[in-house]
Amino acid sequence: MKTSLFLRLVLVSGLAALLAYCAKAPYTERSQLMLVSQEQETQLGATAAKDILKKEPIANDPNTVELVRRVGERIAAVADRPDFSWAFYVIDEPETINAFCLPGGKVFVYTGILPLAPDEAQLATVMGHEIAHALARHGAERMSMALAAEAGGAVASAALGFSNPTTANAFMQAYGVATNVGVLLPYSRAQESEADQIGLALMAKAGYDPAAAVTFWQNMEKAKEGKAKPPAFLSTHPADAERIANIERLIPWARQYSRPN
Ligand SMILES: [Zn+2]
Repeated sequence: MKTSLFLRLVLVSGLAALLAYCAKAPYTERSQLMLVSQEQETQLGATAAKDILKKEPIANDPNTVELVRRVGERIAAVADRPDFSWAFYVIDEPETINAFCLPGGKVFVYTGILPLAPDEAQLATVMGHEIAHALARHGAERMSMALAAEAGGAVASAALGFSNPTTANAFMQAYGVATNVGVLLPYSRAQESEADQIGLALMAKAGYDPAAAVTFWQNMEKAKEGKAKPPAFLSTHPADAERIANIERLIPWARQYSRPN
């Protein structure tokens, strides 16, 4: 039956095309629409990192730099991404409560967030969470959804004009990097919960107690009290009872990944 064979071929090639634009988030196995290649992402991440290093005051206090690098390297060691070129930078801005990880593994921590993460395990919460966004390619996913919406669902990855600075800016914004644009786009609530979850697993794998995440988010919740304008990190990362309860619920799940130091 020629027709059914033809139909089957159409179905199979359609499925293949769909699969080509699909990805799965690590640990949660959530399906994602992905119209951006990891190479495109990594390239943009590297360019943005250079830009940030040129513009921002890089901290050189050896204790702080060493602390951030040590925690970052422990998480990177269990992140299972040998294709990433990991690097950990501290930006000396005591007023800025923020941290992010660019695609490809360039991690930036602002000195302003350090007092809210006063021990290594709490710092591992922040860094694990940010690294989780990059591992799960949340910025690329958000870009992909915006592109698909724009084109009514019929977008080919060839349509991505990454040489266009506006597109590149929008993309980095999707990763929470605001050096050029001044506005941080929050991730979706689902992506935030997913980054919390993956971050907890990374903490446990790296030998940190995932329960430290609860303390960290409680610190963040306190930090916003009495402030008219919430810190940058909080405007994109709501620290509320729901988030903390969610994290508490996930701790036993995360502990299955625990490894001794
Ligand atoms: Zn986040």
